[in-house]
This record gives sequence, structure tokens and C-alpha cells, in this order.
Amino acid sequence: MTRTLIPPEFLVKIDHVRCRRCKRCILNCGFGALSFQDRIVADSSRCVACHRCVTFCPEGAISVERNPLCFKPNAHWTPEVIKAIYKQAETGGVLLTGMGNDRPYINYFDHLLLDACQVTNPSIDPLREPMELRTYLGSKPNSVQVETRDGEHVLATRLSPQITLETPIIFAGMSFGSISLPAHKALARAAHLSGTLMNTGEGGLHRELYPYSSSIIVQVASGRFGVNQEYLDRAAAIEIKIGQGAKPGIGGHLPGEKVNQEVSQTRMIPEGTDALSPAPHHDIYSIEDLSQLIYALKEATRYTKPVGVKISAVHNAAAIASGIARAGADFIYIDGFRGGTGAAPTIIRDHVGIPIEMAIAAVDDRLRQEGIRNQVSLIAAGGFRHSGDVAKAIALGADIVAIGTAALVAMGCRVCQKCYTGNCSWGIATQRPELVQRLDPEEATERLVNLLRGWSLELKEILGALGVNAVESLRGSRERLRGIGLNQVELEILGVKPAGR
Ligand code: SF4
Ligand code: SF4
Repeated sequence: MTRTLIPPEFLVKIDHVRCRRCKRCILNCGFGALSFQDRIVADSSRCVACHRCVTFCPEGAISVERNPLCFKPNAHWTPEVIKAIYKQAETGGVLLTGMGNDRPYINYFDHLLLDACQVTNPSIDPLREPMELRTYLGSKPNSVQVETRDGEHVLATRLSPQITLETPIIFAGMSFGSISLPAHKALARAAHLSGTLMNTGEGGLHRELYPYSSSIIVQVASGRFGVNQEYLDRAAAIEIKIGQGAKPGIGGHLPGEKVNQEVSQTRMIPEGTDALSPAPHHDIYSIEDLSQLIYALKEATRYTKPVGVKISAVHNAAAIASGIARAGADFIYIDGFRGGTGAAPTIIRDHVGIPIEMAIAAVDDRLRQEGIRNQVSLIAAGGFRHSGDVAKAIALGADIVAIGTAALVAMGCRVCQKCYTGNCSWGIATQRPELVQRLDPEEATERLVNLLRGWSLELKEILGALGVNAVESLRGSRERLRGIGLNQVELEILGVKPAGR
């Protein structure tokens, strides 16, 4: 087949009067959309709207527009659906995509509003009063015993290992391989500087991240990439990855072309081979099997660090979470259907899983009903966009929120959703050496630190408006939320009243 029926999604326009033919745009485009033939020529069919050329053109001579080509308006057969059929008719393969679900499903965060204090319980001014965002990751006892020894009060209860976070926001799991080393390093350093955590994802721990290992959660996924005693010893916490929000029930696949020498060393697999992590762990077929792995990891690390389990948000997440808590996990990480990914089948990303808002509420409810909520910290992830989403997630019952896509955006990502191609023009989701070197880890670190700081300050503002001075007091406070535009069943699942009540 020689002729494609797929029209370009975007149009690259060059203003040849302004252009001084410096060719910077050609160098900057990781997708090969620009070339020089007497003058700059654009192949719009290759453009993914990553905006790298627009940002770096010194003359402002490039613009990228959505292709106005009009399909006959049809609410059922949308242009996306038609283009997907063209593409499969031309390739005969599974359609891949990167990043999170972009379909217009209801976003429950946008249908929840936070309450505020007025007269009888006045609000607090965060500029004048101390506000506590400190959060502890790890299993908590339901009560503590205090003994008096030599006139001193000492804690008699032995606490499970805890990690102190200066903000309830951590970085979500993103593997070295799916993202570049500078991006991984920036996340680790920003977490370290901000008193929080980053997560290695399933790609092992690169040696250059060792200095920050007290701020790193390492993953044990089904592929067991990079897992050895040193890997476990260096971590602040260990996470068994069962599922991922963007692709519930699907394993991981890093194409061989991204497995360069460094990725191969870090993952402990041969260079150039596909890194396949199967959907199931082949030693876990029950909660008892999961419990065995949790305790094997605790034994291996002498019970010094929290061990948790990551699952994707699915309809029975509450029952699964109860099993995970009873299996001895110190934390549960739930990833909603808007979670990002380096690569996933589009059909899975867009149609499988449930919203994180529903999963948090259902899990928190179930664990409270069973009297085991304290046994685990609850981490929620999946498309968090701002501190308002974070506050609402905590009010629904999460202890901690993990951000992935927002962190990549802070580093320059334009959410072009082409991570699976390995051509990221911003040097983030790529292993191509000439692209990787574009991301300055120092600058990216600073941007990430700023993002965390900004969101944390806003969280304090929200707490003040709610009249509470600690994020701990917000956790599970659903009476501080009101639903708007939701039906009775949705309100019941979320455990919130409608606005006006
Ligand atoms: S970067 Fe701008 S000025 Fe330079 S060649 Fe490209 S369009 Fe022309
Ligand atoms: S990481 Fe890069 S390729 Fe992926 S969505 Fe962002 S800009 Fe696009």
C-alpha cells in the first residue's frame, strides 16, 4: 500500500519572510517533520505538535495549527475513530499511544467542590499560622502504648518503618528506559531536595541515582528488572507493581531499540532486546502468594523499610486493597484510568479501568469499615493536574498523591502522546543520545522543585480556607466536599453530599 488515507493532524506553517534559514527548527524536531530544500520545508504528516520548533525558532517564524480539514460532522463516527480505522487498515497492528487517557469521560474532581470556613469555625491565615503538610508513609498502629522510664515518657509500641514526607505529593513510577536518564535524575534530585519521594518504575536503579536513594521507592515488577540485594538495600521503600492505571491487566514492553547499553545494564537484560514484563507475576496467583512476596522483601531488607503494592483502579479495588492490607503491605498505591504511560495499546488506555476518585473513596470506605485503615498508607495517582485535585483526593481518603504527567509537563513535556515512538523532542521519553542531551537535569530539577513548592503552598491555602492546620486533618474528611452535577449513586460512592446540603 503506497498511499495513506490518514490526513495530517496538525499543519506546520513557516513564515518565509521572517525565517533566516538558521535550520535550528530542523535540529530541534525529533520527528523529522522539517527539512531544507532551498528553504525550510515542513512534512506536516510527521508533526505531533510537540512545539519544540516553535519554542526554539529565534524569529517566531513557525506556527503549528490543528488541521481544519473537516470530516462530515458525526457524533458517532468522529475523526479520531475514522483515522484509527485508516491506520489499522494500513498497518494491521495494535494502535499504540503514550501518556494518559484523553477521552472526555466525566472528571469527578471537576464535579467536587471544597467547603470553606466562615464565622463559627474561622478560617486560618497560612501566611501567619504554621500549616503542617508533613506526612508519614507506612503502616500505623491503631493505638500506642507509652511507658515511663526514669521519669521519661517513652513509646513502648514498636512502629513499622515510616518515611517522613514534607509534602503529601510524590513522583509517580516512571522507568529509566521509558524516560531518559536526565529526566530520571531530575526527578530523584527534586524529590531529595523537596523532602519527598520519586519512584523508579520497573526499570531498575541507575548508579547515578544512588546519592538520592533515601528518596527513592524502587519497584519490583513482574519482569524483575534490576532487582537484586543492592537494589533493595538502597531503596527508601519497595513497591510490588501489579497494575498500572493506563493499562490495567497489561504487562510492560520496552522496545529493543530503547534498550541501549545503560538501560541494559540497569535493567540487567541484554542490550537491544525487548524488555517484556508479563501481565501477571508468575509467582502470584492469590493474596497468600502476594503476602509471601511482601514478607520475602521485608526479610531481605530486615524489616527496615515499607513494602507496598501498586494496583490499577478497577471496580473491585476495595476488596483487593483489603486483601493487600491483610497480606502485610505498608502502603497501597492505586493508579486511576487517567494515569500516564510510555506506551500502551490505545484501546486499553481509553476503555479499561475506572476513575481514581471512585477508587479512593471505595478503598478508604472499605478499609475504615473493616477497621484496618491505619494498617496502610494510601497513595493515589492517575492524572492529577493541580493542587485542587490533590486536596480533593486527600479529602476523599488518600494519604499521598503521586504525580507523573504533571511532573513531565513541568520538565517541558507538551503531552503530544508520542512517547512510544522514542522520539521525544524534549529529551524526556527518549534514549536517542542527541535528544537525551537536550534535557538539562539542573534546570529540570529546579522546575520540579518549584512545582512541588507551588502546589504545597496552595495546599496550605486550601487547608487555611477549611480552617484546619494539618493535612492529616483533611484526610478522609468528605464532609468538607460537596458534589455538583452528580447523580445520587455517584454521590453515594464518593460519600459526599450535594452542594446546598
Ligand atoms: S528555526 Fe525559525 S528562523 Fe531558523 S530556519 Fe527554522 S523557521 Fe527559519
Ligand atoms: S514526554 Fe515527550 S513524547 Fe511524551 S508526551 Fe511529553 S513531549 Fe510528547
